[in-house]
Amino acid sequence: MASTEHATTTGKASTKPKVYRNFIDGEWVEASTGETFENVNPADTRDIVGIFQKSGKKDVDAAVEAAKRAYAKWRLVPAPRRAEIIYKATAILEQRKEAYSQDMTREMGKVIKETRGDTQEAIDTGYYMAGEGRRMFGHTTPSELPNKFAMCVRQPLGVCGMITPWNFPMAIPSWKLFPALIAGNTAVIKPAQDTPLSVFNFVSALTDAGVPKGVVNIVTGFGSMVGTPLTEHPDVRAISLTGSSEVGRIVGAACAQSFKRCSLELGGKNPMIVLDDANLELALEGALWGAFGTTGQRCTATSRIIIQKGVYRKFLDELVARAKKLKIGNGLDESVDMGPAVNKKQMETDLEYIAIGQKEGAKMLCGGHRLDKGEHAHGWFLEPTVFADVDAKMRIAQEEIFGPVVSCIPCNDLDHAVEIANGVAYGLSSALYTKDVNRAFKAIRDLEAGITYINAPTIGAEVHLPFGGVKQTGNGHREGGIGAFDFYTEWKAIYVDYSDRLQKAQIDRPE
Ligand code: NAD
Repeated sequence: MASTEHATTTGKASTKPKVYRNFIDGEWVEASTGETFENVNPADTRDIVGIFQKSGKKDVDAAVEAAKRAYAKWRLVPAPRRAEIIYKATAILEQRKEAYSQDMTREMGKVIKETRGDTQEAIDTGYYMAGEGRRMFGHTTPSELPNKFAMCVRQPLGVCGMITPWNFPMAIPSWKLFPALIAGNTAVIKPAQDTPLSVFNFVSALTDAGVPKGVVNIVTGFGSMVGTPLTEHPDVRAISLTGSSEVGRIVGAACAQSFKRCSLELGGKNPMIVLDDANLELALEGALWGAFGTTGQRCTATSRIIIQKGVYRKFLDELVARAKKLKIGNGLDESVDMGPAVNKKQMETDLEYIAIGQKEGAKMLCGGHRLDKGEHAHGWFLEPTVFADVDAKMRIAQEEIFGPVVSCIPCNDLDHAVEIANGVAYGLSSALYTKDVNRAFKAIRDLEAGITYINAPTIGAEVHLPFGGVKQTGNGHREGGIGAFDFYTEWKAIYVDYSDRLQKAQIDRPE
C-alpha cells in the first residue's frame, strides 16, 4: 500500500468524504455487497469522517484465503526479521502520531490528550513486542532417559481473526496484531464500525514498513455480517475479541463449535475504594479522571466509588464541585476535558441508565442531561453525572453503563468495601486509596479483579503488564506483556534421542 493511498485527514472536516476500501491481499477492494456506511464524527454529526465498506461473508472468505496463503511464507521468516518490520512500523507510527491522534478524536470523540495516549500505547506495544522477536523464549528440560534431549518451542497458530471495539481504536488492535505477527501468524482484522479509520492508519504504518501482502487484511462492516463469518470460518485458528460480554458470549460459543482458540476481553464495573485515611485530594483527582476520562467509555472506567462513611459527604461534595467544572466539547479543542458519547445509541443507553438510577432511588447530585445547545448542538454530549447513596444491588451499581455516570456507595470499613467491590459479575480493574500498607495488601489479595491499583485510579494500564479480567470480564487470557504469546503461539515439545536404541519413557527404568 502506498502511504499516499489514504493520507490522514488530519482532523479537518472535508467537503467530500473519502471512500475507504477493504484491504485484502495487499489490494484495496470494494465489498462484495456493493454497500458502504458512513463514519460520523460524534462531536459534530455533520462531519463525515469517511465512507467505509459494509462487507459480508464473501469478503471475509477472500481475506482469510489471502491470510492463509501469506502464512505459508510469513511463518518461515525468522522472528528477529519479522520484528525488524515491527520496529519500522512503530517508528512510522511515531512520525505520524499527531495526525493519527487527530483522526481518532474526529472519529470517536475522546479528547486529543487521550487519543495521543492511545496512539502512544500502540507505539509502546510495538517497541515492547518487537524486542520479543529476539526472545520468545522456549525452554529446555532434562529428559528422564539417557542420551536424550528435551525442549519446548513456541510455534505460530496460522490465521488469526481479530474483532475490536471503538474505545481504544489503535491501542487494542496493536495489542493483538503486534504479538500475533511477531509470532509468525497472519491476520484478518474487523474494526468496530465506529472506528475503522484508526485501524486503516495503523495498518498503513505496518504495510509502509514492509509487511508482505496478505499478512494483514482489513474487512470493515458490522458484527453479524463480518464478525460472525470470521468466527465461524474453518481456516481461522484463533479469534481475539475485545468487546461487550454480550457479544463475547456469542463469539465464545461460535469458537467452541470449531475448537478455535478464543480470547475474550469484555466488560467491567470497576470499583474505586476510598478509605477514611486516604489522601482525599489524590483520590478526588483519580476519581474524576477514572470516571469521566474517555467520557466513561473505558472498560476500566471507574464506575463505582465505594467510600468509607467518615469521608463520604466531604468526598461527594468535592467530587460534584469538580465534575460540574469539567469542560465538555469537541475533543480537538485542547481545553476540553470530556468529549461526546461515541454515538447516538450509546448516549441513549447512558440516558436510560440515568433514568433507571433515579427510579431506583439513588440521589443524582449533578448531571443527568444531554447537552444539545450552541456548540453542542450537533453532537452526542452528556453532562458528567454523579449518583450518591447508591445501594450495591441497584442496576446502576451492577451493570456496565459505558458512559459518564458514576455510582457512589457508602461503606463501613475495608471488609465491607471489598464485599461490595466483588459483588458484581465483572472483575477487570479495581483501585484502593489508603495510607495503610496492611489494608493495601489485604485488598490486593482479596479484590476479585485482573488489575488492582493502590493510590491510583482504575485506569492507566502499562503495555508490558498483563491486561484482562476475571469472572464475566473474559475467559482467562491476557493481552499485553509476555503472556500475549501464550495466546498467539502453540507449544511444541521436542525430544531428540541420540542413544541409537529404542528407549521407552516410563517403562525403561533402572532396577
Ligand atoms: P461490542 O461488543 O458491541 O462490539 C465489539 C466488536 O464486536 C465490534 O467490532 C462489533 O462489530 C463486533 N461484533 C458485534 N456483534 C458480533 C457478533 N455477533 N459476532 C462477532 N463480532 C461481533 O462492543 P463495543 O461497543 O465496540 O465496545 C465496548 C465494550 O467493549 C464494552 O463492554 C467494554 O467494556 C468492552 N471493552 C473491553 C476491554 C477489555 O480489554 N476488557 C477493552 C475495551 C473495551
